[in-house]
Amino acid sequence: MKLIKKCVKCSSFTLKPTHCSESTISVHPAKFSIEDKYGEYRRKAKGFY
Ligand SMILES: [Zn+2]
Repeated sequence: MKLIKKCVKCSSFTLKPTHCSESTISVHPAKFSIEDKYGEYRRKAKGFY
């Protein structure tokens, strides 16, 4: 399983321990996918599909 990390400076996702000369923070993959699932439901509910 890959660990997804996020740069606190530019908010981009990366697998590297550092980005923009700053340490990246860990993103929990489970929470990330749940949020994505809710986003999909919302988009469907609003009729974006
Ligand atoms: Zn960055």
